[in-house]
Amino acid sequence: MVENRWRDDEAQRLVDAAGADPADQALALRVYTSRLIGGDPDLVMHGGGNTSCKVTRRDLLGDEIRVLHVKGSGWDLGSIEAPGLPGVRLDPLLRLRPLDRLSDEDMVNQLRCNLLDSSSPNPSVETLLHAFLPHAFIDHSHATAMLALANVPEVEAIVRDLFGDTVAIVPYIMPGFGLSKAAAEVFEAKPDVTGMLLVNHGHFTFGDTARVSYDRMIDQVNVVEAFLAERATPRVAARAIEPPKPERLFPALRGALAKHRDRDAAMPVFDLRSAEHLTAFLARDDMTDLSTRGVATPDHVIRTKAPPLVLQGAAADGDCDALDRAVAAWADAYRAYFERNAPKTAEPKTMLDPTPGLAWVPGLGIFGIGSNAKAARVAADLGDQQIRVIEQAESIGAFRPIKEFDLFETEYWSLEQAKLGKGKPPALNGRVALISGGAGAIGRATAEAVKAKGADVFLVDADQASLDAALAALGRDAGGAVLDLTDRDAGDEAVAACTRRFGGVDILVSNAGAAWGGAMVDLDDDTLRTSFELNFFAHQHMAQAAAKVMRTQGRGGVLLFNVSKQAINPGKNFGAYGLPKAATFFLVRQYALELGGDGIRVNGVNADRIRSGLLTDAMIAERAEARGVDTQRYMEGNLLGREVEARHVANAFVDLALAERTTAHVMTVDGGNVEAALR
Ligand SMILES: [Zn+2]
Repeated sequence: MVENRWRDDEAQRLVDAAGADPADQALALRVYTSRLIGGDPDLVMHGGGNTSCKVTRRDLLGDEIRVLHVKGSGWDLGSIEAPGLPGVRLDPLLRLRPLDRLSDEDMVNQLRCNLLDSSSPNPSVETLLHAFLPHAFIDHSHATAMLALANVPEVEAIVRDLFGDTVAIVPYIMPGFGLSKAAAEVFEAKPDVTGMLLVNHGHFTFGDTARVSYDRMIDQVNVVEAFLAERATPRVAARAIEPPKPERLFPALRGALAKHRDRDAAMPVFDLRSAEHLTAFLARDDMTDLSTRGVATPDHVIRTKAPPLVLQGAAADGDCDALDRAVAAWADAYRAYFERNAPKTAEPKTMLDPTPGLAWVPGLGIFGIGSNAKAARVAADLGDQQIRVIEQAESIGAFRPIKEFDLFETEYWSLEQAKLGKGKPPALNGRVALISGGAGAIGRATAEAVKAKGADVFLVDADQASLDAALAALGRDAGGAVLDLTDRDAGDEAVAACTRRFGGVDILVSNAGAAWGGAMVDLDDDTLRTSFELNFFAHQHMAQAAAKVMRTQGRGGVLLFNVSKQAINPGKNFGAYGLPKAATFFLVRQYALELGGDGIRVNGVNADRIRSGLLTDAMIAERAEARGVDTQRYMEGNLLGREVEARHVANAFVDLALAERTTAHVMTVDGGNVEAALR
């Protein structure tokens, strides 16, 4: 059941905060219930749905005007604010209604011309539908339960049984002027209805107040929820399917998908969901048939494409040839779909990437496939809802969504394409960066720096609390794992964990390290071996595991090592640290030599005197005193006379990740020190 989350005290608080103008008070409540709807993933997800209210305002000249506030594109209902509901002059919009037709471009232009604030975002493509209905408040959602009902052929009879004459049915028409007129005509024929079900699309409710319209939305969804619960067929006992291993499947699939994308485009990123209701659904005997039916609401096709890529048998186990065949078959079918439908549209279309946005893998689950982690997450969320809709629709009839050409029109609709964003993606968009020592000063700074260039970030660290703090700062699409890198298997585990989270690895920043001191003549073997475990073998094991994944992906990659100036410019009593770092310095060249043919570049950074876990404030004070200078002078003791910070090291890693023709290179980041200079 969907919860009614309206709270009188919260509503009153927002009205009080809005000031004396009744229009602003109405808008405050409009924002409030929009957020209540947007905050419930069973009502709307990821920019779906829209809301509006009609108010009276005075313009600059003091004339009274009727204004429609309607959701602006680019805003999400769950986090919307007043500027996300741009005001449009209502009367000029109503004058459009008698037109026989209005192109999308002309419609958008009319909406923009009538904005109260010319800098507002574009009003929703469903603005005219909101305008042509008379109600003060209108709510539109893509609720899971309503989508199940909207996609069965028996929809009319069921709606009549459940709602009598209070909910009207609008046949499927693509959003825009035509749908707006049709919905208004349906309403005018039955002016007492309190809601409308748009076949194959979604649900509208309306009322005189924000509260009434919201209550109607929740109540109507719950009537359908109760009906579905009563009719739900018990899940057929699932076939036992040996779960395929994502560590094997994902890198090979990334490689197979990359062959159908632009040569320079990043490989796709994945987001796996393995919830029980998904694996149970994928074990159904009719799973393959259901995969071909289409999407629950047309919007989804923009994010998920259709149909999902279904992987079974050798392909699901990561067999490269089988995956190539499966991906090629999907691409061929997509090209055929494009060629069948493109000639039927008014203007010429350019084919999108012939690669899927969603995969179904029986035994494993579903995963979103996107150009970065966020896009993959959105696709996975919608893919999960899609499966719940199919399951519920099948329990009350048959899941029969919109026809192929209607789907094509939405996928290739210029206004929908605009939602995907324009412009060149950032340089590291879609690259997965695995960073060890990820919660330390340099690790965190590097994570921020590569993320700023568009990369998705997976952190490995030995300390849970520091890792949690670092991940929280990076936002919801970052991943991480706690591992002790001195364990023999930790490198493999780190790369496997990153692969399960994002699909593979494109950039390794092997950064974790720790210093051990002591004069060589007194140094015990245990200390030296312990230092070698972390400062050499951990680098070797991470590199080995990451390079194997990169080879499977077949699109190059970058290995980056945090070496140290100690590798070539030893400090007294730092042999236990410098020796393994010298070996790691050599590792850069050895890997560069052996991986160049795979297009994998290998570089390192020699940094010195960075405030971090390796060089604490107490150590700085001690060393400064030993040299008879204050701590600031000590930290600025280099040719440039400036302290070197973690962010400078991070920027060097980014530069090396981007330097397309640079391999076997070690970059010095120490503010200048001739003794430590290379060559
Ligand atoms: Zn809609």
